[in-house]
Amino acid sequence: MGTAPAAKPRHQFQTDDPRLRPIADKVLAGARLDEGDALALYRSGDVLAIGWLANYVREKLHGDRTYFNVNRHINPTNVCVAACRLCAFGRKKDADGAYTMALEEAWQAAASGYTESVTEFHIVGGLHSDLPLQYFTDLVRGLKQRFPQVHIKAFTMVEIAFFAKLYKTTPRDILMQLKEAGVDSMPGGGAEIFADRVRHVICDHKIDGGEWLEIARTAHELGLKSNATMLYGHVENDEDRVDHLLKLRALQDETRGFQTFIPLAFHPDNTALRHLPWTTGLTDIKSIAVGRLVLDNFPHIKAYWQMMTPKIAQIALRFGADDLDGTVIEEKIYHDAGATTPQGMRRQDLIRLIREAGREPIERDTLYRPVTRTETTVSIGV
Ligand code: SF4
Repeated sequence: MGTAPAAKPRHQFQTDDPRLRPIADKVLAGARLDEGDALALYRSGDVLAIGWLANYVREKLHGDRTYFNVNRHINPTNVCVAACRLCAFGRKKDADGAYTMALEEAWQAAASGYTESVTEFHIVGGLHSDLPLQYFTDLVRGLKQRFPQVHIKAFTMVEIAFFAKLYKTTPRDILMQLKEAGVDSMPGGGAEIFADRVRHVICDHKIDGGEWLEIARTAHELGLKSNATMLYGHVENDEDRVDHLLKLRALQDETRGFQTFIPLAFHPDNTALRHLPWTTGLTDIKSIAVGRLVLDNFPHIKAYWQMMTPKIAQIALRFGADDLDGTVIEEKIYHDAGATTPQGMRRQDLIRLIREAGREPIERDTLYRPVTRTETTVSIGV
């Protein structure tokens, strides 16, 4: 995690919730929180006290530094054999709106919006049963040939498991082939909530939580860093959220391969769970703060502005988050589920959000190395 800046609590910890006092003692002593502590945090309404603690940890790790990147999302296909109830993106092959990009089209999509010197392609898609593995390895190779300096963060653990099954090999073999083609790291999607009870309701066609963690372990062993997400605000309860966080923390103790934890608010529109309400601002903020406090071995906590809205994400920078994600340029998955945020944001807009929160904007690459720009060049500090 680098050199820790000195903590600078600006005022004393205060709470009217007695359950938070012993937790505050642990946080200030740098001690690990346990399951009971995590549950108490989720159940407390004193979001300012929880935020104070999360901010204390955030500033101990990162001071005012707040990261963002200039990235572009590419979703090569929305055709998917699964039919997760949480999803508004996937389509059956013959359904209206189903698409699969020709390789040339995907490379062109990568090039559009490239004027801002993108440092990352974020690539995820549906589980398409008719595409050969070569489609994906050629996609990645072609991107590397055309944009050799751009980091490729591609394919969730769910996609890797699907490829392994479809092409009758192991997840390790698939990961090795994709790495060889040019994949540099992996996103954190598909984790949802690990508890079986919840997965049966929201995504019963997906790999289970144990498989997700096992593929993440394998990726980390192969030198591929990844992120980890948690989709909240549907049918899970506090125990499920805590179980999810503790499983991520346990794997991180082993591998140190996770870079960033990203809590994702469930968007119900156009999904089979559209009767559920949207998450509230308080739950969004608390998800960031509890993540920061429980995941003491995760370097970064991201307030993904596309999911939280730029307004809530900006506030989250004072509640434990140190990363806002990036410019994105063309987000499809959450917009199919009713997101009303813009599909992309300019670099200077991200900087303004961060500065207004009293934080120091740092443009990073995918591996959190600082990016320096001049009028004509982009360089990455190593
Ligand atoms: S969430 Fe992913 S796996 Fe599930 S239906 Fe949507 S695209 Fe397919």
